[in-house]
Amino acid sequence: MSIRLNNLTLAYERHPAVHHLTATIAQGDWLAIVGPNGAGKSTLLNAMAGLTAINEGSIEGLCPNTVAYLPQQAQLDNSFPLTVFELVVMGLWAKLGFSKSLSGLQHKQCVDAIAVVGLQGFEHRMINTLSGGQLQRCLFARVLLQDQPVILLDEPFNAIDLKTLTDLTQVIKRWHQNNRTVIMVTHDLDYVQKHCPQTLLLSRECIGHGTTKDILTTGNLKKARQLSEAFDERAHLCMQGAA
Ligand code: ADP
Ligand code: MG
Repeated sequence: MSIRLNNLTLAYERHPAVHHLTATIAQGDWLAIVGPNGAGKSTLLNAMAGLTAINEGSIEGLCPNTVAYLPQQAQLDNSFPLTVFELVVMGLWAKLGFSKSLSGLQHKQCVDAIAVVGLQGFEHRMINTLSGGQLQRCLFARVLLQDQPVILLDEPFNAIDLKTLTDLTQVIKRWHQNNRTVIMVTHDLDYVQKHCPQTLLLSRECIGHGTTKDILTTGNLKKARQLSEAFDERAHLCMQGAA
C-alpha cells in the first residue's frame, strides 16, 4: 500500500514546520528525506508514526500499528535500566498481548535479531554501557522484531562508526529486498546517492521528490543550501485555513 501525504501542514503553535506537502511514497520505496536543519524532517516522521497532530491535510495509507519508528538518537533516554535483550523484546510487545511471556519461538526470534545486528554476547549488558554504535545496533534489532511493512529511521547513522553503518546498511537492504517501505532522514548525501533510490528534498516545503539522481541535482542542492543559509527558524504563521 502506498503512503499519500495530501497538502500536509504540521505546526507548533500555528508556526508551520512542514508546509502544504503533497507526495506519494510507493510501497517498497527506499526514500531518503534530506534538507537543512530545522526543515521539518523529524516533525514529518513523527507525524507518520502517528505521534504528532496534523494541522491541515492528511496522511493516508499508514496506521500506527503498521509502522516501526526509530527516532533521532537524541530523543532516546538510555539511562533507563534495561538490558540489550529487554530493549529488543520490546519490539514484540504489540504481539505479546496481555500474557507478556515469551514463547520459545519468540525467544529465538530475539536471539536471532541480536545476532543479525552483530550484538551476540551482549544480551545481558545494560544499554547505558553501550557505545553509540552498539546502541544503534540494538535499536535496529528491536525494529527487526517489530516486523512492520513501513520503517521510519531518523538520522540512524549520526555519530556512528563506519563498521556499524556498513552492517546496518545490510539490514536495510534486506528490508528493501522484502518490499518493505523504508523512509530515512539523513544528512549524508553520498550515502543517499549510493543507496537510496528515491529522495524527498524538504525545506519546510517540498523542494523536490523523485528518483535520487533527478532530485540531488547541483541546482536543487544549491537551492537547499541557500534556503539553509537563509533559513528563518521561526516560520511565519500559516494563515491558510485559519479561523
Ligand atoms: P529537522 O528534523 O529537519 O531538523 P524538526 O522537524 O526537528 O527539523 O523541526 C522543524 C521546526 O520545528 C524547527 O524550526 C524546530 O525548531 C521546530 N520544532 C521542532 N520541535 C518543536 C517543538 N516540540 N515545539 C516547538 N517547535 C518545534
Ligand atoms: Mg531532525
